[in-house]
Formats: sequence, structure tokens, C-alpha cells
Amino acid sequence: MTRYLLIALAALAICVLPWLGLPDYYVRLINLTIVFGLLSVSLNIVMGYAGQISLGHAGFFGIGAYTSALLTSGSSGLAFWPCFGLAGVLAGLVGVCVGLPTLRLRGHYLALATLGFGEIMRQLFLNWRAVTHGMDGVGNIPAPSVGGFAFDTNERFFYLGLGVLLAVLLQVSRFDKSIFGLKLRAIRDAELAAGASGVNVTLGKVGALGVSAAIAGLAGSLYAHLLAYISPDVFSFDLTAQLLAMVVIGGAGTVFGPVLGAAAIIFMPEVLRVSDVYYQLIFGAGIVAMILFLPMGLGGWLRDRFPGLSAGRSRPPVAEPAIVASVQGIERASLSIVPSVDEPPKPCPGPLLVARSVSRQFGGLKAVDDLNLEVRAGTVHALIGPNGSGKSTFINMASGIYRVSSGSIEFDGRTIAQDRVWDVADHGLVRTFQNLRLFSSLTVEQNVMVGANVDLRGGLGGVLLGGKASQADVDVLRDQAELAMRFAGVLDLRDRVVKTLPHEVQRMVEIARAVARRPRMIMLDEPAAGLNPNEAERLVERIRRLRQIGITVLIVEHNMPLVMRVADRITVLNFGRKIAEGSPQDIRNDPFVVEAYLGKKLSRRLEQHVSARN
Ligand code: ADP
Ligand code: MG
Repeated sequence: MTRYLLIALAALAICVLPWLGLPDYYVRLINLTIVFGLLSVSLNIVMGYAGQISLGHAGFFGIGAYTSALLTSGSSGLAFWPCFGLAGVLAGLVGVCVGLPTLRLRGHYLALATLGFGEIMRQLFLNWRAVTHGMDGVGNIPAPSVGGFAFDTNERFFYLGLGVLLAVLLQVSRFDKSIFGLKLRAIRDAELAAGASGVNVTLGKVGALGVSAAIAGLAGSLYAHLLAYISPDVFSFDLTAQLLAMVVIGGAGTVFGPVLGAAAIIFMPEVLRVSDVYYQLIFGAGIVAMILFLPMGLGGWLRDRFPGLSAGRSRPPVAEPAIVASVQGIERASLSIVPSVDEPPKPCPGPLLVARSVSRQFGGLKAVDDLNLEVRAGTVHALIGPNGSGKSTFINMASGIYRVSSGSIEFDGRTIAQDRVWDVADHGLVRTFQNLRLFSSLTVEQNVMVGANVDLRGGLGGVLLGGKASQADVDVLRDQAELAMRFAGVLDLRDRVVKTLPHEVQRMVEIARAVARRPRMIMLDEPAAGLNPNEAERLVERIRRLRQIGITVLIVEHNMPLVMRVADRITVLNFGRKIAEGSPQDIRNDPFVVEAYLGKKLSRRLEQHVSARN
């Protein structure tokens, strides 16, 4: 609520601004701040939330500007509002069309592709003379009007612009707090893990670009009507570069930051006019200083200074010693979990995951070679073997990240062949990663909520309309996440940002995120890596607990004592081929395995673990 109060106060303060007797020039600068603020809010959706670099936003801005300018100017000019809407829709559609092929790319490839798009648009504005009038540009663009009232002075335009900006900011702040905003930030922090947690990554990224482009189009339309004249040279890479600076200085991933960034970039030259000679130098140094000293931007800095600004349930922070206590509380915690604990797991003797003659080739290397594997429901199945023997590759194929080169994998009677990562997760097969892949800037609770799976009743529309159903959705997700966090012993740490937590806790958060989906099967890729013996002990406890609550487990692990203690069945790989399979007892005694992998000494030591178990 504080947030709305602040918006209202800010709006009020800004509304009286025109009566302060500011020279018209400054009101115009404020109007430009509004237009470019809107534009950087739009870039922030792609960059700050979804984590994708777009260097083509000047293009979307231009599409909006030209659409609105061409349709409203001249004698047959249409009314402002339909053209304003059309500018957004058209830019949004182009955004989706650009996003579909380019968002498969990452990092600098994506940057290059979008840079190319921006340049193509500029060339189009310049050379499609019949429509855009080329270098002459489009002039005589009428002022926007509503029912005869024209926003034809800077002061009048100010209200229109402010209204549009606040409406968009309200939607962004609702989105920011919604599960959709969370999913988008999950994609930004760890795309692969977001997919494996059931987030439709393609939809998220393309949707974000579409919405972002649409808002850029609206900003373009406002720009055209504010200036009454547009020409192609505005929509160049220089503009995009300025926009990037606005978002970074304002604070990527914050709701209001980009507007502050726009204000900073537009007003800084005014402040610096005192020195004509060194103006550029001071401007550049100022930007560098802001990036150095306010890495989270103005918005991030304000958020840290005034935490009340970002509304949310606040719980008392957890003290450092409590972190350890919380994780060590596993025994207690794990006894009081998940509703299905008291129900005996359904006896289901058949195989849940079946690999038939699966191979995977990387160039000349056969990482997995003609592998047949059956994981029975309700068991803990271990996949072991030396480094590079194809274990992670198999998990990557089973989770839909890699395609099989030949053969097939079935989960619960369905072939996974063409499934995308999030489809596999949707069908109840989830995984953790060998190298932790958490959403590192999100809290423990947010990480786990991304993994949780409920039918969202409110939907995105509900979020934007501020419906009750979408708040209910968040509550259900939160409850589900709570069960999973309790299971993994990380409930007390739920408000901590995960990157600040110790390694063991992070491993447990990954498990909690996977459990939150209420899966039928979990694949754990080296969950004990980096854990000390005590921590590994707690892990054993949890893996047994997973089986108890009816979740089938496939575990890849190098810690042999751990494997011997939890596994019902073990498959051994070497150079991608299965070299042995059987009970822990069989495997420990298999001379082939002892030679290829275990060695005699370890094999003798494992004897104790196997006999302790029986
Ligand atoms: P493990 O998990 O058993 O240690 P991996 O499945 O990660 O082994 O790797 C098996 C083999 O496949 C290794 O030789 C590895 O270098 C190779 N490999 C895995 N992923 C790729 C990839 N994306 N591109 C090329 N080679 C790969
Ligand atoms: Mg591996």
C-alpha cells in the first residue's frame, strides 16, 4: 500500500509542477522525460525482468511513432486514440515476430540480432520514401485530443503523458509482484533451470519482448505527437544506447527506476551546462560514477534505503547462527512434512522411466551409447560411473534439454522425444543440476514458488486487472512452496536471497524447488557434490524421505558410501555404455566395476555400508 500512497504523492507533486511557473522549456523536458521514461520502462521489461539484451528498441519506438504520425497527419488524418492503440499493437506484433527467431539466441548473438533489427527499421524509415517521406520526415502531426479538447501545449500534454505513464507503471508494478514477474526473473537468473522447473521459457521471453515492444510503440506515438515532426535520424542506435543508460542508471528490474534513469539522462545536460567546455566529459564521468557507485541503479538504491517501498509480507530477518540450526533441524523438519507422508506410497511395480537403446553423440564422441535403463516406480535408482561417462548427458536427455541421437526415452508410458523441457516437468519428471542453477537474486521462497505447480485461475489478465483470483493463486503457490521448504529444512530461511546462503542450503533449495512441483520422479545430479560428511548424512535422510512419500529418485553420485546406503538398484556407466546393473551388493562385488571405477580399496570399504544396510 505504501507503494500506492507514494505513487499518489508523487503524482500530486508532479501535478502541481506546471503551476510552479516553470519556463515552458522545462515543462517540455519533463514531457520528454515522460516519453523516454515510458520507453525505458518498456526496455526494462525485456532487459531487467527477462534478462534479454535488446539493442533494437529504437526500431519499435520508430514503428509506433511512424504509425501514429502517418495515420493522423494530413487532411484525411484519423483521430489520435485509435492510432495510439494501433501504434502499440503493431509494434507489439513486430516484437513477437522478431522475438520468435532471435530469442533462441543468447548473450551477444541476441544483442547483434536485435541491433540488426534496429538498423533495418532505420533504413526502412529512411528509404521507403513513398510512405515515410524519407529524410524529409513526417510533419504537421496534430496534437492528441479527447472530444474536442486538444493537448496542444506542453502543459496540457504533460497530463496526458503522465496519465499514460502512471497507467503503465501500475500494470508493471502488478506484474512485478505476480507469479508471472517471478517467472520472468527466473528466466533471467537461470534460463535452463527455469525451464526445468516448468516455466515456458519461449512464451516468457517472446511475450516479454511483445509487451515491451508494444509499450515502446505507445511511447513512439506520444513522441510523434509531442514533437509534431519526426524524421528517421531519431530512431538510430544512439537512441538505443541512451535508453540502455537510462535503464542501467535507473535500476534494471525495478518498477520505477527506468523513469528516474530517464530523468537523470535528460536533465543531467541541463545541470552541466555551466561548463560548455567540459560538459561531455563530466556527463560521461557522471554516468560511469553512477554505474560504479550505484550498481543497482537509482531504483535499486531507493529500494534498499526504503524497503517499505517494495511492498510485501515482511518477516523478521534470520540471524546467521539460525541458518545452520535450520538446516540441521532436518530430522525434526522432515518428520512433519507433506500431507501424503502418512499414506503409504502407491505400489506400482512397473517401470516409470524407460530408456531404450538411447545414444547421444557430440560430433565424433558418443557420450551415451546404446543405453537401456528401467527405473521402477517407488525406488531409488543410482546411476554411477567415472567422470565423462555420460550420466549428466542422460539426465539432460530425460529432462528434454538434449535430444536423443537415437533410441527413445519414455516416462510414465509417454515418449519424451519431442517434449520441451517444461513439458517434461509438467508431466511430473523434475531434476536438479550438477552445478547449482538457482535463481540467485531471488529469495528462497521465490525460488521454490517458481517450481511449484498450480492451475492459475486468475491468469495474466487477472494480474493486470488486479483481480482477487490472482492473489489467491499466489497464496496457493506460497502454501505449496512452504511444504516443500519445510521438507528440505529451509523454511526459516525463506526470505533470504539464495546467493547469500551456504552451499548446502543452496543444494537443499534446489531440492525444495523440485519437490514443490509435486513430481512423480526426481533426477538428482550429484546432489552431494561439495557437501561435508554431516551434510551428506542429512542428504541421505532426505533422499530416503523422498522415496517414503512416493517420489521415485534417479540419483547420479560419486559419493559411493552414500549411493550404497540409499540406492535400491545401481546402473554403472563407462564411456557411455552400461557395464553393470544390480543391487548395491552385486555392484560392489562386480569385478568389472571394481576394475573400471571403484578400485579394490573402495570396494572393501563399501562392504561395511552394504552390510550395515542389510
Ligand atoms: P558425466 O556426467 O558422466 O561426468 P557427461 O554426461 O557430462 O559426463 O559427459 C559425457 C561426455 O560428453 C563427456 O566427454 C563430455 O565432454 C561430453 N559432453 C557432454 N555435454 C556435451 C556438449 N554439450 N557438447 C559436447 N560434448 C559434451
Ligand atoms: Mg555429470
